Amino acid sequence: MKIVHPSAEVFFHYPVFVGSDNEGSESFELSEFIEKVGRTCYRSEEKIVPGSDKKFVKMITDRNHGAMLEHVVASCLFTCDRGVSHELVRHRLASFAQESTRYCNYSKDKFDGEISVIRPFGMSEFECRQWEAAVEACEKAYLAMINEGKCSPQIARSVLPTCLATKIWITANIREWMHIFSLRISLSAHPQMREIMCMALPFFIREMPELFRQYDAGDMMHEGVNETT
Ligand SMILES: Cc1cc2nc3c(=O)[nH]c(=O)nc-3n(C[C@H](O)[C@H](O)[C@H](O)COP(=O)(O)OP(=O)(O)OC[C@H]3O[C@@H](n4cnc5c(N)ncnc54)[C@H](O)[C@@H]3O)c2cc1C
Repeated sequence: MKIVHPSAEVFFHYPVFVGSDNEGSESFELSEFIEKVGRTCYRSEEKIVPGSDKKFVKMITDRNHGAMLEHVVASCLFTCDRGVSHELVRHRLASFAQESTRYCNYSKDKFDGEISVIRPFGMSEFECRQWEAAVEACEKAYLAMINEGKCSPQIARSVLPTCLATKIWITANIREWMHIFSLRISLSAHPQMREIMCMALPFFIREMPELFRQYDAGDMMHEGVNETT
């Protein structure tokens, strides 16, 4: 079995206006686009000037005019374990694409004939030994069911462990991402959930500090999170 590290990659969807051949195209920063959309409500488009976008985004957020934030979208590709991914897919307003244990056959060469797992952090030496023995037994049974028996991966998967590594894409609008961060970066969230959220957050803060800085808990941020991974 391979022990892999959790990770987060963030992709922002930047709006591009596609004009006619003569007009060319125009691309927008995320907050510029929110302002362009939001000012339609007040028909105050004439107030759009360089730098007005950040103030506008703050103003609508302070007023809970959150629907305007739904016009901007970001996708994250997380590598996490299946336990964490089960929690992520509870976010009903997001869209998902996840590595399938029905179709992926970890006995194949492209997976080096082994399963990939994520080791929880914070275990004692004793707990680590128990964990490794249990996961190795799962892998052994899975490979035997496929290689020596006649099992398809979708049946053999029932012995795979919760710590099996998975790749999952999540696409959601910025309002939903704020909601996800508010729940999943909090100290009451699962430590491994906080870990991947702490990895993704800096990218959101870099792109839209006016919306995401509030979830950065400074020194508290990495409490209970393994910073070596
Ligand atoms: C610390 C923690 C512990 C948890 N423990 C458990 C547990 O033990 N068992 C368990 O089953 N789950 C548990 N959950 C999952 C939790 O119940 C939610 O399913 C999950 O957090 C998604 O939250 P949400 O519904 O607010 O978000 P989303 O599905 O992302 O929805 C976003 C928002 O849209 C609105 N919304 C979405 N759908 C509806 C709807 N149908 N009707 C009205 N409004 C809607 C709500 O305002 C919602 O907050 C836990 C979550 C956390 C953070």
